[in-house]
Amino acid sequence: MYDLILSNALLRGRRVDVAVAAGRFAAVEPAGTLARAEALERLDATGFLLRPPFYNTHTHQAMTLLRGIDDDCPLMDWLTRCIWPREARLTPEAVYAGTRLAILEGLRSGCVAFNDMYFHQPAILRAADEMGVRARVALMYMDQVSDHIENDALLALCREGGLPPRLGLALAPHALYTTTPEILRRVVGLADRLGLPIHIHAAETRDEVRIARERFGAESPIAYLDACGILRPGTVLAHCCQVSEDDLGRIAAQGCYVAHCPQSNQKLASGVFPWALAAKHGVAITVGTDGAASNNGLSMIAEAKAAALSAKLNAGAPDALAFADLDRAVTETAAAALGFPNAGRIAPSADADFILVSLGHPAFAAGGDPDANFVYAADPSAVHSVYCLGRPLLRAGHHPDEAAILADAARAARTIR
Ligand SMILES: [Zn+2]
Repeated sequence: MYDLILSNALLRGRRVDVAVAAGRFAAVEPAGTLARAEALERLDATGFLLRPPFYNTHTHQAMTLLRGIDDDCPLMDWLTRCIWPREARLTPEAVYAGTRLAILEGLRSGCVAFNDMYFHQPAILRAADEMGVRARVALMYMDQVSDHIENDALLALCREGGLPPRLGLALAPHALYTTTPEILRRVVGLADRLGLPIHIHAAETRDEVRIARERFGAESPIAYLDACGILRPGTVLAHCCQVSEDDLGRIAAQGCYVAHCPQSNQKLASGVFPWALAAKHGVAITVGTDGAASNNGLSMIAEAKAAALSAKLNAGAPDALAFADLDRAVTETAAAALGFPNAGRIAPSADADFILVSLGHPAFAAGGDPDANFVYAADPSAVHSVYCLGRPLLRAGHHPDEAAILADAARAARTIR
């Protein structure tokens, strides 16, 4: 007896029946094969594209509350004048409301997981837990802002094994310009002791390159982070716009992931992550939205398309990134980067994370590769259903708590603006 059978879904150009049991895919067979199999629930998926969902590898979810504040400002000025003073006024309740809004936006674009770096982490974990998504929430390490860090409580939670498997922790020294070598070395020691991965902003802007040289005497931000031990298997390096071939070689050799955030990088004119060059060096590449204050949307469909366009423009070649490689980066590679190596693909025994996309959307009417059409031509209105570990989180494009999530976020935003 299966929990769920999807019949006649379109998967990578073929019609299939798919069975789900105990949160995993139990069978993926040609359409019609499971017509007589028993299941608690059956869904006729005719007219739907079946895909793995997206996994967002770099974000600050509760920054939804800061969306649209002084949009046309340089990064350092924007952080110090617009963002940090307002963030100091954030309460756990506000972060909870902002995170719920971000999770909702993610779900509507077909995303079930996020790699977060923000404050009031117990509120972030509560939002992710209640809404059924996967998340990796980071303990923050930053110079001069230890007043609202709740790292000790989180570390205790981690030691007690008090988190469900779809939620995890990471260690996030914010960036090289907001930390010291001592902080970075302490984080590396903690990562060793606790077996936790590291998540950090790296080589985002030209300013950061200058700071690495002038303040730390390093050849580049990546060389400096490597010397401090931050580059190690599983580390997620967000941005990597300002990287040399040497840097890319180090990132690949140390087994790190890059979280490419193309829309944030373009909006802040930070630079372009050189995707094709990084792929040539064997770097594991994923895609993140960054926070809603610097993007400003959290649609992973839009982010994946922007990643492809920036890779092609940066390389000066339309064949610099094949759709299949982009698709793997935003699904399977990204799931592994978040610590879910059994998710991100639709195959027997893999975790049953999937989305159903309505082929009635105009993007699909004239044919072509449906998966590419979804990323390059569709939008969140095409996302019909989203499942995580076999559990429905969005149905018919609708979340049951949507009205309350929007109202709570509006109220929370008024307290800090
Ligand atoms: Zn960021």
